[in-house]
Amino acid sequence: MLTAKRIPRPVFGPTAGLLAVSLALIPGLVGDAAAQPRCGSNTVWVAGAQSTDAPVRLLVAADHEIRNEREWTRGLSLVVAEAESLLLPYLGRPLEVVRTVPWQGSVRQPSAAPLLQDLMSSVSRGDADIVVGLVRAYSFQGFSETGARVRGLANYRSAYTVLMLGGPLGDRRTPISEIGSLLAHELAHIFGAVHRRGADLLLAPGGVGTRVDALSAALIGMHRERTFGASGFPLPAPYREAARPLYRKAIEDDPSDLDARLMLARLDVETARYEEAISALEEILEEFPGNLEARGDLDLARSLWRREANRLAFVLGVAGGFMGQLPRLEYLDQRKVGACS
Ligand SMILES: [Zn+2]
Repeated sequence: MLTAKRIPRPVFGPTAGLLAVSLALIPGLVGDAAAQPRCGSNTVWVAGAQSTDAPVRLLVAADHEIRNEREWTRGLSLVVAEAESLLLPYLGRPLEVVRTVPWQGSVRQPSAAPLLQDLMSSVSRGDADIVVGLVRAYSFQGFSETGARVRGLANYRSAYTVLMLGGPLGDRRTPISEIGSLLAHELAHIFGAVHRRGADLLLAPGGVGTRVDALSAALIGMHRERTFGASGFPLPAPYREAARPLYRKAIEDDPSDLDARLMLARLDVETARYEEAISALEEILEEFPGNLEARGDLDLARSLWRREANRLAFVLGVAGGFMGQLPRLEYLDQRKVGACS
């Protein structure tokens, strides 16, 4: 564990209040939130979830260039401590590096998406919660266009993230504070936050701001007990309905934000709103035909929708005494499942 400090317990106290405040700030959404029976105004609004102060366990996979830096593990400790200080008030859990491993991204281009894929396929999580890849093995000429010296990408479902650094840990060009903000930004994505507009915000796209807005704080707080691993949806069931209006608000604020649209569609799948999810994902794929995450989510939504339609057909058939005569599923909306075959 890199830091030993007091662990505030904001989530089921102040953060619940913060969430209530953030929901109250969203016009037209207060009723939705208030309708949730578990959403008390000043108490725990979770049923069944176990609260935890346990550290979030990080496995850090660093490339040869970083591991050759003098005192790189000390630099890493400072980066993680910086990220922890930014997230702790909302997450209520410290960060702990449980292990570092070598990882040399085999992708020969400075692009975050293939690097993240490489990390996910070549480094196993083991007993850690989140895998953080650190890369310096590229020239990163592309960085100069935006002036950015660090760049990152995170995958919400798998809880993997990769950080691409344009210089050594703690270098003048890549200071600890900047890398720490980037790590906090990517971890915030893993804890459910999506991009928000505002230059000083931690969740600004590609930014290295530090301020966490109320909506992001609420989403991070809801995800503090998210699950890590290959199966299941990360956000515990008691939070899913309450998270939907927050993602809707994020989309309203920035309709172009792909992550918020994907998150809402995923929540729709998890809460059995299959038709809404399918429509949203089809729209996303029209705009971004190569988006693999949207494609995977759409396949899942269609197969679950089809299963549900089959179940309904069976129930209707039994109820009507039509077993053997009900014309399979054709009378249900085949448009939604036709593309599955
Ligand atoms: Zn981001």
